[in-house]
Amino acid sequence: MEDQAKHSRRKVLKVGMTALAVIPIVGFSGRAFAKQNTAIRAALKFQGQPNADKQCSKCVNFIVNKDKPTNDETINQCKLYPGDTEIPPHGYCLGFVKKPTT
Ligand code: SF4
Repeated sequence: MEDQAKHSRRKVLKVGMTALAVIPIVGFSGRAFAKQNTAIRAALKFQGQPNADKQCSKCVNFIVNKDKPTNDETINQCKLYPGDTEIPPHGYCLGFVKKPTT
């Protein structure tokens, strides 16, 4: 009976240690490769083209890639899309708010 309890405890510990070893890898890889926030893209109906004269580069939420401020590539960000680094200046979504003109 005591042997069985020891064996069971050992098994639980083994499974627990394996789970602890795997969690950081999954967590890291999730952050490292997540470039698009697909849930928010779907919710805000993101599209890669402008909607008439409305586009990301004219939106208050657009965050320009500092290394390439005049780019037209999918290398920018948006305040409404945490973790998404593939926002193009010519994209559009329902979160569009026109930048004030000065
Ligand atoms: S809120 Fe929408 S339109 Fe505005 S920058 Fe973000 S993705 Fe582009």
